[in-house]
Amino acid sequence: MDIQQTIKRLEQVTGISNLNFLSKPNHVHTATLVVNGNEYVAYRIQYNNDRGPYKGGIRFHPMVNRTEVELLAFWMTIKTALVDIPMGGGKGGVTIDPKLLSEESIQKVAREYVRSFNNILGVNIDIPAPDVYTNPQIMSFMLDEYELINNCSEPGMITGKPLEIGGSLGRDTATAMGGLFCIDEACDRLGLKDARVIVQGFGNAGSNIAKLLYDKGYTIIAVSDSKGCTFSDSGLNIDLLISHKQINGTVKGYAEDLDNIFSLPCDILIPAALENSINLDIAKKVQTKLIVELANGPVTTEADDMLHERNILVIPDILANAGGVTVSYYEWVQNKTGLYWDATQVNNKLKLCMLKALNTVWDLYEVQGRNFRDAAYTIAIKRLYSAHKLRKG
Ligand code: NAD
Repeated sequence: MDIQQTIKRLEQVTGISNLNFLSKPNHVHTATLVVNGNEYVAYRIQYNNDRGPYKGGIRFHPMVNRTEVELLAFWMTIKTALVDIPMGGGKGGVTIDPKLLSEESIQKVAREYVRSFNNILGVNIDIPAPDVYTNPQIMSFMLDEYELINNCSEPGMITGKPLEIGGSLGRDTATAMGGLFCIDEACDRLGLKDARVIVQGFGNAGSNIAKLLYDKGYTIIAVSDSKGCTFSDSGLNIDLLISHKQINGTVKGYAEDLDNIFSLPCDILIPAALENSINLDIAKKVQTKLIVELANGPVTTEADDMLHERNILVIPDILANAGGVTVSYYEWVQNKTGLYWDATQVNNKLKLCMLKALNTVWDLYEVQGRNFRDAAYTIAIKRLYSAHKLRKG
């Protein structure tokens, strides 16, 4: 997706003629991290903070580049506005393959990242979180480094932390839980019963959604990860699949191995891996009724148009995976107040927030008659525009 084209399209969809303030990030910070004699390019992109401090994860992946981080930061800006939490959008990344590094080296990269960006991070400035191939342990190292440098205790400067150092109950499953609330509601509205589900990606987002859906009685027929796919027509036992992945490092080999999961017939398809997984070719072939984007940007723009033409509903990333940033926001609130909530409180708040956003989008979608993504963007953009106008006139 191209941000400039998206802004033009959004100007038409929303009828707001000047969305220039959203066409580029407020700040782009880059650094070179030197660890054990190796150099890694690192980014922190602060897209927009009209509605609150910058918020967004840090990705460690060999494909990380400025364009990708900028797009992810843009999506964070839209997402926080859509679920109406008082935060802006940002994102970070390091171009690195963590699978090739020791745990000790990964810790050094995490600390070096914070040393490089210390001045522009902070509890009221910019609050990172985990993303692809980063996790609560890496957040712990980052918090520790930040507090060492600044000689303070400031757990709210980063979210997605382990519980022992200020994390929130429910954060580990929040992205998937938010997705589950959307799926349950969409199934009710679409009259989908006994849904058969395919999940692409089996990391934090993918394995948790598979487990939550499995526990609720959905049939998960196929799952993939970066090494392969596994399929069972009668449904996979997700508890056993999680153990299989822990032992073997992949879902492959658990049931029937397949090369591809996208063309299998199903009711719900959940991309939960990386961007651009569903392109035009795949969009022509998928045999599903509902796509729920748990990953960021898994459906290309051309594919999205094709899916709309084919009457396949897509719940977009900015809504479907917003549970993660929403509970990150709850974690930040708990850190700032020093009062901690139990898992039921967290999940009840999350459910209210997700359903409010989903139902607002659905109502507009029915009135607008355009696609679901346009309805979601319209709501978010109007909030952002109004915050920007109030600040800048
Ligand atoms: P993760 O690192 O925990 O897992 C990524 C998974 O994707 C792994 O199982 C990996 O094997 C798999 N994968 C990679 N390439 C693949 C391919 N070509 N085919 C199939 N599987 C492949 O990452 P995550 O946190 O689960 O994030 C996944 C997506 O969800 C990303 O787009 C991320 O931005 C988005 N997301 C995550 C969160 C969160 O809280 N974790 C929140 C919002 C959005």
